[in-house]
Amino acid sequence: MKKQLIAGNWKMNGSLAANEALLQALLAGATSAKCLVAVCVPAPYLAQVQQCVAGSIIDLGAQDVSQHEVGAFTGEVSAAMLRDFGVRYCLVGHSERRQYHGETDAEVATKAQRALAAGITPIVCVGETLAQREAGQTEEVVKRQLAAVIHANGHCISEVVVAYEPVWAIGTGKTASAEQAQQVHAVLRKQLQAATAHADRVHILYGGSMNAANAAELLAQPDIDGGLVGGAALKAPDFLSIIAAAH
Ligand code: PEP
Repeated sequence: MKKQLIAGNWKMNGSLAANEALLQALLAGATSAKCLVAVCVPAPYLAQVQQCVAGSIIDLGAQDVSQHEVGAFTGEVSAAMLRDFGVRYCLVGHSERRQYHGETDAEVATKAQRALAAGITPIVCVGETLAQREAGQTEEVVKRQLAAVIHANGHCISEVVVAYEPVWAIGTGKTASAEQAQQVHAVLRKQLQAATAHADRVHILYGGSMNAANAAELLAQPDIDGGLVGGAALKAPDFLSIIAAAH
């Protein structure tokens, strides 16, 4: 059975000093982790974190990647540049990127392609808003978001990580119940099974106010293969508790 993956999303938080302190605490506390662990950090800190986690259980992740390969795209960071810093995972299509930067399903799919081409595993985020859930559109929305990535990436789809992140649960303290999350994860697994014979290899993470108290129940669900953790990833004891709940 594959190991679960616990990935922290630091969002736009951190400083050289705070990162150092957080990572030292994580490195000291995660030595006996049974799962895979990653931290997705702001781009300016990639070099610092690369150095800090080298040779450890913690893998390095980025939070976004350009849909372009190279050239006149001021402010953008390419997949090859991320690779230069030893990046192993990259979030694509986080709901904050979709919401505040207008990222479309097609752009997210291209970003996943760019990451894969550079040897980076994209963590493709999908999820419905509260209005969409209340309108009974959850399944339709997440399937549409994932379909774009499947369509663009063909057989490579077994190389991605998918993160189900209900938008209404991100940073709100509201968590999807284990049953609600499992239901959507099963839908996503089925969709992957229709696209690849290796769907069981794909990690499907849950994200949305995962914390030390609710992690064990969520991570016990058959189709939940790990967590994408925002707020709780900034506090070493909380992140370590989630890691300890994973297998
Ligand atoms: C996230 O940003 O991906 C996330 C899940 O945030 P939080 O855990 O704070 O809800």
